[in-house]
Amino acid sequence: DQSSSDYVTIPRYVRVNTIVSSMEQVLSQIDAKTKPSKNNKNKKKTKKPSLQDSSSSSKMPRYVDPHVPNVLVFPPTASTRANLQELVKSQQVVLQDKSSCFSALCMVHGFDTLPSMEGDFLDACAAPGNKTCHLAALLTEQAAAAASTTTTTTSKSSSSKRASSVVVHALDKSKDRFELLQRRMKELTETPPRDGDAKKNKVTTVECHNADFLSIDPETDETFSNVTAIMLDPSCSGSGMISNHQEAMDRDPLSKPKNFDRIESLSNFQFQALQHATSAFPKVQRVVYSTCSVYVQENEGVVQRLLESSSSSSSSSNDGNDGGEWELVAPKCLDHWHRRGLEHPDVVGLSPEQLQCLIRVNPEEDGTNGFFVACLQRKAANKAPKK
Ligand code: SAM
Repeated sequence: DQSSSDYVTIPRYVRVNTIVSSMEQVLSQIDAKTKPSKNNKNKKKTKKPSLQDSSSSSKMPRYVDPHVPNVLVFPPTASTRANLQELVKSQQVVLQDKSSCFSALCMVHGFDTLPSMEGDFLDACAAPGNKTCHLAALLTEQAAAAASTTTTTTSKSSSSKRASSVVVHALDKSKDRFELLQRRMKELTETPPRDGDAKKNKVTTVECHNADFLSIDPETDETFSNVTAIMLDPSCSGSGMISNHQEAMDRDPLSKPKNFDRIESLSNFQFQALQHATSAFPKVQRVVYSTCSVYVQENEGVVQRLLESSSSSSSSSNDGNDGGEWELVAPKCLDHWHRRGLEHPDVVGLSPEQLQCLIRVNPEEDGTNGFFVACLQRKAANKAPKK
């Protein structure tokens, strides 16, 4: 097909679901399935699987992604898909694009230790649940790490208590998409981990809600009163998705989008949702905002509006800063990611330092779907107590 040759292709990314399996277990199964049979003949025992490209010993070349832990990269071929089928079915891996893993990664590993991670998580626009599932896996890993550290240092610890009480609320407004989300989360929590540790998939409880995020009021609905962190991945133009051919010809983030009215209305909704996340939940300390759009109107523009509105509504403006209640944080976990927020004539309110905090993915050049992430932190939480 001549026209499709104009489009960029990206690798097939696979995230190992660490609640159910591990990188080593997944690689062993891939090698067992794909090793050329003549090499297998006289071998008694297979070697421990290598994390590096194993194209010489396996029929299925792959490498480990350098930016997102537990993500494997394969060629985007039909045989890759066929070879991964059983691993997907058994919940050991999730077919999830690399850039879409940035949100949960930033939520758990993007911020400094402050603000504290106590409290519940809310995935405000969750269906079909890829990021929820990733968040649950990262929180489970973190709880296991905290429990193992504390058992070696002290027998009674608050961290090990926390290990059994992580709650993620996953919300979606669409009934159909909510049903899919609920089904996937049920499968996730009901699949026994392969290492036999039956408690592992109970560490993080995912509670699904078919609700409009904009109507959630934690002051009147106790379910959400303990939310301290929000992951917000609202509906967007999807203009960064490589598969989105219609948008592909209109992907220049600096030009005015052809479908400007639609982008503007999406941008208004995104701003409303981000404003709700940062103002209606008094206990919320961190918000991770993301889209798979390339347009500044849905990305830097929304963040700028939020910071401006937070600044104008904040009364504590004599702190020597810009007076706003929220600030951008450069995510630690993506220190080595080169592409940052875009300068644009419509986004003049963000400083070079603030743009450096924003993560962008260019679908034409970065080998993964276009994406945008902003990590926001409530300033008061980081203020040292006054002497
Ligand atoms: N985070 C998801 C994932 O990684 O699988 C993808 C989310 S998708 C980009 C946006 C979702 O937001 C859609 O499922 C849509 O139904 C949902 N949504 C849109 N408006 C909403 C609202 N007001 N409240 C809750 N969910 C909403």
